Amino acid sequence: MYKNLRVVPHMVFGRGSFNQLDDILRAYRTDEGSHVVYLIDAIHEHRPLIHRVPIHKNDLIILVNVDTEPKTSYVDELVQRVNEYSNRPPDAIIGLGGGSTLDLAKAVALMLTNPGSAADYQGWDLVKNPGITHIGIPTLAGTGAEISRTTVLTGPTRKLGINSDFTPFDQIIMDAELVEGVPTDQWFYTGMDCYIHNAEALAGSFINTFAQAYAEKSLDLCRDVYLGDDPEADDKLMVASYFGGMSIAYSQVGVAHALSYGLSFLLGTRHGVGNCIVFDQLDDYYGPYVEEFRRMMDKHNIQLPRGVTKDVDEAGMEKMIDVALGLEPLWQNALGPDWKSIMTREKVRALYERM
Ligand code: NAD
Ligand code: ZN
Repeated sequence: MYKNLRVVPHMVFGRGSFNQLDDILRAYRTDEGSHVVYLIDAIHEHRPLIHRVPIHKNDLIILVNVDTEPKTSYVDELVQRVNEYSNRPPDAIIGLGGGSTLDLAKAVALMLTNPGSAADYQGWDLVKNPGITHIGIPTLAGTGAEISRTTVLTGPTRKLGINSDFTPFDQIIMDAELVEGVPTDQWFYTGMDCYIHNAEALAGSFINTFAQAYAEKSLDLCRDVYLGDDPEADDKLMVASYFGGMSIAYSQVGVAHALSYGLSFLLGTRHGVGNCIVFDQLDDYYGPYVEEFRRMMDKHNIQLPRGVTKDVDEAGMEKMIDVALGLEPLWQNALGPDWKSIMTREKVRALYERM
């Protein structure tokens, strides 16, 4: 069975395109009394961008806290705030921020029209009703969250996305001006998420011509950004992120993501840096890509955190291994149908112990 992929139907790309937001929203606003809800990464609270947000009289702005990556409980709390604000549903939910904020916007939009807790929908195709219109505007580039059909959440028992045809944004705006001036470490780690998406897609057994084309172009763009001195680096990284997202949407990620989810679940390690910590140990699986990744680190003087698992006790280690090995499709993609005999618990443990 081939995947019947749903993609983002409307997108705008270009410097300054954020200025079109008011125009774009006009198509989604219903009447005088209606409102939209902005979920804005709190980092922008005192930055010039917030003054450019086109706010109409009934609109609600929520500054979202992304000090930790999105949890199902936080999604539930945000949904409650939106519901308490008005007895009519918003015309749209707009996420403005990095991958965490984009994922919160997707999840809130879905949970406004589906009963229960976000935790009930972690998995594949569990969402029954289309969400509220949702619009994504990245201020960090790399995760591909702007294009993907998932919103990655940590729930009570696992870190797993809400993957569904209703999850992708209805509209995205990709304006490279919004990612200017991101601190180097964050810029590197989030961008490497994209690089690693491509490496895992290309080295995986699920690869196909469609996914390969996106991954190869995305890799080229990553190389321009991280190994060159490209004046259009911000624009290129934004496109690389989208293409990398498209690639894995029609293939799958692999070993780095599986192990990174384990780190994140137990230690709260953020996705971008977690992927880098893991990838640095994966010569056996992604050799040439790991070597190139290290050249990128050198060029930008990135010092990876070391010894992150040294204080993990036995129960914690077992839990990390469970979370990682629970991501079956990722292992199938990376290692093929016999993955269970290749990636034993001992091997996973040995990899974690080196990080
Ligand atoms: P992030 O959104 O977690 O943000 C990281 C930090 O950068 C935060 O402190 C944030 O406030 C700050 N930040 C955001 N914009 C900034 C700006 N313009 N300037 C300076 N700082 C800024 O980081 P991320 O790497 O973009 O996203 C990671 C999240 O994305 C994880 O939760 C991960 O699970 C998720 N993710 C989702 C998908 C998907 O397909 N849905 C794919 C990959 C990752
Ligand atoms: Zn990723």
